[in-house]
Amino acid sequence: MELLSSYDVIVIGGGHAGCEACAAAARLGAQTLLITHHINTIADMSCNPAIGGLGKGTVVREIDALGGLMGEVIDETGIQFRMLNQSKGPAVQGPRAQADKAAYRALMQEKLKHYPNLTLLEDSVDDILWEGKRVTGVVASGKTILARCVIVTTGTFLNGLMHIGTEKTVGGRFGEPASTGITPALKRMGFPIGRLKTGTPARLKKESIDWASCTEQKGDEIPQPFSFMTKNFAPQQVSCYITHTTPETHKIISDNLSRAPLYSGQIHSVGPRYCPSIEDKLVRFAGRDSHHIFLEPETRDGISIYPNGISTSLPKDVQEAFLHTIPGLENVEILRYAYAIEYDFVDPRVLKRTLETKTIDGLFFAGQINGTTGYEEAAGQGLVAGINAGLKATETGKTLVFDRADSYLGVMIDDITSTGIDEPYRLFTSRAEYRLSLRADNADLRLTAKGIEIGCVTGARATAFRLKRQELEQAKKHIESLALGAKQLSALGFSVNANGQKRTPYDLLSYSNVSWNDLVRAWPSLGHFSEETAKQLEIEGRYHGYLSRQQTDIEAFRKDEGLSIPFDTDYTQIGGLSNEIVMRLTATRPETIGAMMRLRGITPAAVTAVIAYLKK
Ligand code: FAD
Repeated sequence: MELLSSYDVIVIGGGHAGCEACAAAARLGAQTLLITHHINTIADMSCNPAIGGLGKGTVVREIDALGGLMGEVIDETGIQFRMLNQSKGPAVQGPRAQADKAAYRALMQEKLKHYPNLTLLEDSVDDILWEGKRVTGVVASGKTILARCVIVTTGTFLNGLMHIGTEKTVGGRFGEPASTGITPALKRMGFPIGRLKTGTPARLKKESIDWASCTEQKGDEIPQPFSFMTKNFAPQQVSCYITHTTPETHKIISDNLSRAPLYSGQIHSVGPRYCPSIEDKLVRFAGRDSHHIFLEPETRDGISIYPNGISTSLPKDVQEAFLHTIPGLENVEILRYAYAIEYDFVDPRVLKRTLETKTIDGLFFAGQINGTTGYEEAAGQGLVAGINAGLKATETGKTLVFDRADSYLGVMIDDITSTGIDEPYRLFTSRAEYRLSLRADNADLRLTAKGIEIGCVTGARATAFRLKRQELEQAKKHIESLALGAKQLSALGFSVNANGQKRTPYDLLSYSNVSWNDLVRAWPSLGHFSEETAKQLEIEGRYHGYLSRQQTDIEAFRKDEGLSIPFDTDYTQIGGLSNEIVMRLTATRPETIGAMMRLRGITPAAVTAVIAYLKK
């Protein structure tokens, strides 16, 4: 498409946040421009060639439920699919797929190239423009391009500095330039900037690995797709392999710790605690003499293998030496050395739940720039920023926000915008207090109606969702009509306490020894419902009692969330607040009483004082 001088929305960056952001804004009808360094690196996986996992996989389903792209693209390009935690309940299961990263990138690029209302521009943004308290556009290669909204999704590129031993290279990731003009612009706007670190392992040559010394890990026999729109799913799967570090590996690393930038003082910034480098693991878990390594193909047919679990910034000679002590890697050839990267991020407490900044109208941040780590976290934020920028730029007067009780998207955004981050933030199921309700299987039931209402879910997806919900409601109604007393149930083979109450087949599902198939044997009419509906009812029925109790907690939570605090509240006027609390509230400006309660150092007395003031 021809380049215009003005757009509704400009997205800076073509990573996972940028892809979902530009697509979401464009879906809402906003004329959108994606500016990225290289069109052929759009949707590149800088680190592990995989999508999903615990918590993260649920986010991919949530993105999909709202019309996003990540789920459909990985379903078409994944080379191994596993449902993690299958032995545990659905509330803590997470879909994960090994990606063919080249195919993933290519398909995402293809989709974006043909997306309605979206233009792609290969360029580098050097500055962001604003007037007063409103963003007005960007500067790329000396050209000014105006926009009503700008979404910054620059990932690890802001002042990126890569480390391999004492070697330091300026760059946003391997082989790509850093981005240096945006941080000064953000500083001029008054945003607090910090620095974080992450790292990636070496890439290994497939043919040089002795696969017989490693343990094979196959994909699931019945693979499950990410997208609610993927049907007849039968991908051709490849295997991954598992090996491990040895005492010899640990000795080489320990003997060379002083040469690791993390320990020599060369790197000062904080790295991801939950995804530590191998040298960090040895220091933190000193008692262990072995760590697992997963050997994951980067593409279906290519030569590059990603050894998951041994990211490092140790010098090249140490990397060579320790890799050769690992079973299967005795003669391994290195295609690319491991490295660590330091980059700038913005304190995400400057953001509203829409991911628009609180102080510059129309300016949004999403992804790694907000201190998170991971493709899924980035994509989720991109989607939320893209939807809200699209809604704003097209002057709908609407916003779409999520909360801790409706989605992992809501949990993540509340975590980072309320309490900020002091290390790269990653999603886990344990971060969600209502995780029994926030399952991967019901992401569409939780979110798609919201997406339809706001306009980011349309067409075939909206129709499929309506049909699914309709059948589910019919099935529930039918099940309610099948209630029987204990005696009649006993005649059908179900033994329950005779407490005088009738029970529906749905109630019976809460008994661990009763499955949907048992119900169909007793009530053949239930066999008419689709497999999808049956599966959904089986899960909901299993958790029915717990879910009802959780609903009471959610209602209490929503009461606090429903109490908004106006942005311009003058906290100095509220009696009973200490100076420290006034300063904290003035700096963070929580949007609701619920968000205020989750800030560090906020006392119950302070909450009461603010509620009393607001009521006045
Ligand atoms: P990115 O994917 O980084 O994309 C940023 C995009 O912005 C790029 O397309 C870039 O070209 C573009 N861009 C930047 N500046 C400009 C500009 N001025 N003008 C135009 N375009 C611009 N995640 C994990 O979960 N676990 C890990 O172990 C892990 N390790 C990592 C190791 C390394 C070395 C790196 C680089 C990343 C690692 N990540 C890891 C992070 C993961 O890559 C990111 O979380 C994810 O890619 C973030 O997505 P994003 O969209 O925010 O940014």
